[in-house]
Amino acid sequence: MSYIEPAPIQDKNNPFESMMSRFDVAAQILGLDQETYNVLKNPARQVIVSLPVTMDDGMVKVFEGFRVIHSTILGPSKGGIRYDMAVNLDEVKALAAWMTWKCAVVDIPYGGAKGGIRCNPRTMSKGEIERLTRAYTLSMLDIFGPDRDIPAPDMGTGPNEMAWLMDEYSKSKGMTVNAVVTGKPLVLGGSLGRVEATGRGVMVTALSAMQKLRMNPSQSSCSIQGFGNVGSNTAKLLEERGVKVKAISDISGAYWNPKGIDISYALSYRDTHNGTLEGFDGGDKMEDPDGIITCEVDLLIPAAKEDVINIHNAPKIKAKLIVEGANGPTSASADDVINSKGIIVVPDILANAGGVTVSYFEWVQNRLGLRWPLERVNRRCDRIMKESFERVYAISKQYNISLRIAAYIVAIDKVSNTYKFRGGF
Ligand code: GLU
Repeated sequence: MSYIEPAPIQDKNNPFESMMSRFDVAAQILGLDQETYNVLKNPARQVIVSLPVTMDDGMVKVFEGFRVIHSTILGPSKGGIRYDMAVNLDEVKALAAWMTWKCAVVDIPYGGAKGGIRCNPRTMSKGEIERLTRAYTLSMLDIFGPDRDIPAPDMGTGPNEMAWLMDEYSKSKGMTVNAVVTGKPLVLGGSLGRVEATGRGVMVTALSAMQKLRMNPSQSSCSIQGFGNVGSNTAKLLEERGVKVKAISDISGAYWNPKGIDISYALSYRDTHNGTLEGFDGGDKMEDPDGIITCEVDLLIPAAKEDVINIHNAPKIKAKLIVEGANGPTSASADDVINSKGIIVVPDILANAGGVTVSYFEWVQNRLGLRWPLERVNRRCDRIMKESFERVYAISKQYNISLRIAAYIVAIDKVSNTYKFRGGF
């Protein structure tokens, strides 16, 4: 059966529709049949739970939690858990589907999922976050499992939350099950290199793209939007390779230094100022809220959340290369503007796949009951990232399309071929 024209996208700024609009273009180029299209479009499972949690003041507050399993065609589903006030079902659905494509692009044996809780972890105590995480885990006992669905950190979560999740899950099973979650602290079976892995993958794919564009790293400058785990590690690794990081930003604002920001200083500043760059004196604060996106640099790295590059600021971008550290940082409506300006984009499902790649290594180590040295983790991750970049680059040349659509083609081709062998009802 031939591929049938999909329904038009209603709202390109809705993250799920934004994801689907790229999926549709790739599906059309691949000539995907209607049956497979429908299977890949619809998430396999969507769970919404209410989580009553006793707050420190004794009041019970009810939080809303989500887990969306987009696909288990390639293997157990994999994807992080996000704690943020903006979490909603559409966002989690999009993020879950991106995980399916991401795992397929880097060729690791996982399907895609994502979870989230609508909360503001910045205003909660450690005890409140722990109780919330344990409540969420209990409500997901039928979903999670080392061979079923394996969570990991995402925005607003980290090794502590993963430790509580592993502990609560293990208690309920009556045994230690460390392979149920990745991104754990090292002592609980976490992997060396996991914390830096996403930033490392961004650095590797950025350098691969710069090589194709004949950009010399030590003569190039960059701007990094977001200074959390992904942004800060990317900044450090690029600086080590000679790239001048001229601008960084976080929720407190954006900071510009034409001589290059000293990233070690920015990291220690953040770590001694409540986790933010508020009052940072290693650069000038930018007036324009979009300055971090539109400033005069060669390389732009959005490393926080969705839709920061949009139809309003895309025409003003000066960078030649964008490498997406975040998931979905470019709204679908900005794609055309960026492509028409000749800007090359290394898309999220390729650029930030280093995190889930090292999550996979963590899961493998847990199941084998051993620990790999950092050198092995990094070497294998770098190799996967480089090979994946080359695979996507070759497809983009073959079809004369953007790296984004090429990455979707690689992913959809892999998942749909696997589906054909497994079959449905
Ligand atoms: N949250 C990360 C991502 O979006 C990591 C997911 C994982 O390691 O499972 O890729």
